[in-house]
Amino acid sequence: MNVSDSEVIFAILAKAGYERTEDMAAADVILANTCSIRDNAEQRIWSRLELFAAQKKRRPEVLVGIVGCMAERLKEKLLDSRKVDIVAGPDAYRSLPALLEAAAPDNPQINVLLSREETYGDIMPLRTDRGGVSAFISIMRGCNNVCSYCVVPYTRGAERSRDPETILAEARDVYERGYKEVTLLGQNVDSYFWKSAAGNTDFADLLESVARIAPDLRVRYATSHPKDISDKLIETMGRYANICRCIHLPVQSGSDVMLEKMRRRYTREWYLDRVRKIREVMPDCAITTDVIAGFCGETEQDHQDTLGIMREVGYDYAYMFAYSERPGTLAARNYPDDIPPEVKNRRLTEIIDLQNELSLESNTRDVGKTFEVLVEGPSKRDPSDLCGRNSQNKMCVFPAPGDTDIRPGTYVTVRILSCTSATLLGELV
Ligand code: SAH
Ligand code: SF4
Repeated sequence: MNVSDSEVIFAILAKAGYERTEDMAAADVILANTCSIRDNAEQRIWSRLELFAAQKKRRPEVLVGIVGCMAERLKEKLLDSRKVDIVAGPDAYRSLPALLEAAAPDNPQINVLLSREETYGDIMPLRTDRGGVSAFISIMRGCNNVCSYCVVPYTRGAERSRDPETILAEARDVYERGYKEVTLLGQNVDSYFWKSAAGNTDFADLLESVARIAPDLRVRYATSHPKDISDKLIETMGRYANICRCIHLPVQSGSDVMLEKMRRRYTREWYLDRVRKIREVMPDCAITTDVIAGFCGETEQDHQDTLGIMREVGYDYAYMFAYSERPGTLAARNYPDDIPPEVKNRRLTEIIDLQNELSLESNTRDVGKTFEVLVEGPSKRDPSDLCGRNSQNKMCVFPAPGDTDIRPGTYVTVRILSCTSATLLGELV
């Protein structure tokens, strides 16, 4: 999400005549695109601000800006720190050139207005990835769910979908420039909806149109909400080999009591039914998830229910977090953050240990299989190896052939010979 926002910001600033540099010492403007999802994400930005302050001390004309969710959440409070000259929320990126123009070390500028319409639909993002293989495309902004732990609806505002024509134009453009994979992004892609005279477009329709651009363009997406993922979407995926066999379906907890308190609006049984449907249509589909450990009032039994559902689904991969109370959310207002840190961390460790086992089991099942792998480039660990992902989004590493040069963006067939919990290791066939 943030990479995609940064690419929109680069496009807006490039049009206004700014040039991008990664050398902080050479920059006239330093912007930090921020996340507020958990407290530690914000703490990292506060330490970055110390680094930026050192630059300002050496070169007082340098302007420092905080953009994105933390700007939206803290607003003027960021200016009070006296370390920031510009504060721009997620719907205020178009005003960045004007804010930069007006700002001076003694004259900070702020725009944190949220919009009901802004989708940056007409802006062609300036891609920042080096490989030129895989691109993110934002299809909607904001979120209308109010999961009780989550700050996103407050920092990114109401949900709005982007015009499908602009999404398709962007996907065609990156394909024509040699990209082989697009990931469609939204907080809850299942509620994507566009109404027009030509007819309505839901997420399954959009996904199908993107998949039809070219059979060698892989399509991924994130994130599906278990309460909304439809049979139509799952069946559409099943019909297109280039829609990747990987669904990120955040469960958060395996306990109905916690799910209710989290306001997720599904039950464990409902979730497991969605998993069954996915497996029925696409037996080879990877399922990945997000888990929160130690939400308000979580009992040992609730925690066991989370470990239980993880085993039952057998997730291929998971992002796992300790609950972090976010000011202003329903949970912060209604429920005490009462799980002691040592208990939260112990539960999180148990969840991570279990997921490592499940990932290893999942990868072990793939030993002996062959996969189509989209090459990303040399492996970081050993540059004589190449790496890339299979449709299930698993990283595959294999020796590069001595005689031919395989460019990033090439599809190859790889037979898996062994694995770790994080990687499949194989050979070209
Ligand atoms: N829209 C997506 C998730 C966006 S946030 C969805 O609904 O699944 C990404 C993940 O961060 C969430 O799935 C959740 O697991 C985690 N998260 C969000 N708020 C959190 C909080 N207050 N504490 C800990 N983890 C949190
Ligand atoms: Fe947050 Fe829930 Fe919206 Fe995801 S669906 S962004 S967790 S409120």
